[in-house]
Amino acid sequence: MALIVQKFGGTSVGTPDRIKNVAARALATQAAGNDVVVIVSAMSGETNRLLKLASDMTSLPDSREIDALAATGEQVTAALMAIAIQALGGKARSFLGHQLKVLTDSAFTKARIKAIDATRVMETIASGTIAVVAGFQGVDEEGNITTLGRGGSDTSAVAIAAAIGAAACEIYTDVDGVYTTDPNICKTARKIERISYEEMLELASLGAKVLQIRSVEVAMKYGVPVHVRSSFSDAPGTWVVGEESSLESISVTGVAYDKGEVRVMLVGVDDKPGVVAHIFSRLADENISVDMIIQNAPSDAPMSRVSAGGPDSKTDVTFTATKADLPKVKQVIGEIAEQVSALGIRYDEDIAKVSIVGLGMRSHAGVAAKMFKILSDEGINIQAISTSEIKISCLVATKYTELAVRALHDGFGLGNKP
Ligand code: ASP
Ligand code: MG
Repeated sequence: MALIVQKFGGTSVGTPDRIKNVAARALATQAAGNDVVVIVSAMSGETNRLLKLASDMTSLPDSREIDALAATGEQVTAALMAIAIQALGGKARSFLGHQLKVLTDSAFTKARIKAIDATRVMETIASGTIAVVAGFQGVDEEGNITTLGRGGSDTSAVAIAAAIGAAACEIYTDVDGVYTTDPNICKTARKIERISYEEMLELASLGAKVLQIRSVEVAMKYGVPVHVRSSFSDAPGTWVVGEESSLESISVTGVAYDKGEVRVMLVGVDDKPGVVAHIFSRLADENISVDMIIQNAPSDAPMSRVSAGGPDSKTDVTFTATKADLPKVKQVIGEIAEQVSALGIRYDEDIAKVSIVGLGMRSHAGVAAKMFKILSDEGINIQAISTSEIKISCLVATKYTELAVRALHDGFGLGNKP
């Protein structure tokens, strides 16, 4: 007898028939001898509809009230799910975040879970009843309703699974797992059977939007095995788990890309201590998150500009930020450029970041060299590089994104069964 958490995303509960279908699945899991806790998202499109209503009132709605409004989407599905299970002859009871309770901080629209009181859930399942919990929502110390950010019901599910010590947290969604790369641009993309939390975090933050990033962090912290799978089939999906030796036998697990960044170059800034610190602390003050950073002298610079940091020497500082932050960057960059005596500012929005991710990189030499060779064989110029222990990212011109992804996917043999 196992304790299983099943989370159903918006498309899985998008229509009354789909809710009935999911209710039957939860009952089947229970009939197989398990205790079942169901977490639900709002019906697909509902959260967007609610947020649009708020913005129809005013361009800047109060965030406390946005949460009071947005949380209703999940209240509807939780109640409907309990009704659907009962209609099939099962026992079910729905709970909202504050009824359990899911205690969060007061950062409305992006609250973080602080603690979960699982007593009512445990009492409910002990009596053979399926506990249905509204995802995405919680309550702060003052009793205000909070929400966990878009996609937050994944995090609700994993956090509740951790709190009740569930054997697994199943995330039912509209894709059947996590793929080696985007199947829309690479026909040989393959479903990954098992992936580590670390790799999933890198892939999720790189734009493989299957799970909310925060949910993977919580799963990793508490060691909750997560099974991402489709609610439209019985086929196994992808397990997101702790590091296992079997995961390390291949060097690269997936290829990701991100077209959402912009490259900003400060040309000819003073090359002396404190300059880079100043640039990036000003950007941080404005809440602009920076991804890649390169400080160098351009190859076409006259040699006199390349020096070891003497009093008159100049260097270029390049960074990438999200396109969404570009208006904020443009607001402050002029002032920063002046403060560090930059000779110019350049923007390039026509860039994409292509990355390979894999735990095995730690133990395999030459992975970076192989990546660069694959890109150069396709005639793709690399504009910037960044690395972490388990990830290598290259900045390329946007038009090469698909070509680069396919070449890397094939080059690292990801289309073949491991
Ligand atoms: N309904 C919320 C959203 O659309 C939370 C979720 O679905 O995970 O973002
Ligand atoms: Mg989701």
